[in-house]
Amino acid sequence: MAVSAEASFKWGRRRIAYSIERTDRSRLKITVTPSCEVRVVAPLQAHKDEIRERVQRKGHWIVKQIEDFEQYRPKTPTRQFVSGETHLLKGVQYRLRVVSHVASNIFIDHDRIVIETPRSESRRHKAALLKHLYNIEAHREFPARLNAVMPAFGVDGVEHPRLIIRPMIKRWGSFTPKRNLVLNLDLIQAPVYCIDYVIAHELAHAVQPDHGPRWRRLMDRAMPDWRERKIHLEQSLL
Ligand SMILES: [Zn+2]
Repeated sequence: MAVSAEASFKWGRRRIAYSIERTDRSRLKITVTPSCEVRVVAPLQAHKDEIRERVQRKGHWIVKQIEDFEQYRPKTPTRQFVSGETHLLKGVQYRLRVVSHVASNIFIDHDRIVIETPRSESRRHKAALLKHLYNIEAHREFPARLNAVMPAFGVDGVEHPRLIIRPMIKRWGSFTPKRNLVLNLDLIQAPVYCIDYVIAHELAHAVQPDHGPRWRRLMDRAMPDWRERKIHLEQSLL
């Protein structure tokens, strides 16, 4: 199935682009992908104007799908990495303490994250140290959370995916066509129950690629309070 055309429609102030794929199926189908792309699969003989009219008519639903999941993306705040600044780890706020020292080190001391460094003025160096701490914590926490969430999807035949932890710019996670579960390193800043939500969200994509009714049914069964967790993640300080 090849993408044969690109088109767009206006909804309020926004212009929303969509792709049109032609097939020999008899019904037109509109989906919004997790990355907020609008895809239309249309019968071979359907006229472009007819497709546009159908898409326009579903405009409210399409925009709602996009808006629902746009908020799934992390915000990117700029931090200075100076003493007194707060940084999150597993939903807990830690106050940063930057100390001049002959060697670089980073560790947690009660409610503080302590950075020891000979280069206390280098924002980039301190950011790298904090990232190092986040990496260690993420590699400790995420595999354990995946193990905890997995059983809820066992009945759907979802196999334990390979877990990849890396920085992601626009998303908290993804489930790749090669069936890898990718989690954003920054997610380690979120509360554990939000980490679990992202894992469940992506595992449900192992069964259903979009956020349609089937995906929601899977989520409702595996994690009945997923909507609250989703809102919590969106409203967190990350
Ligand atoms: Zn998704």
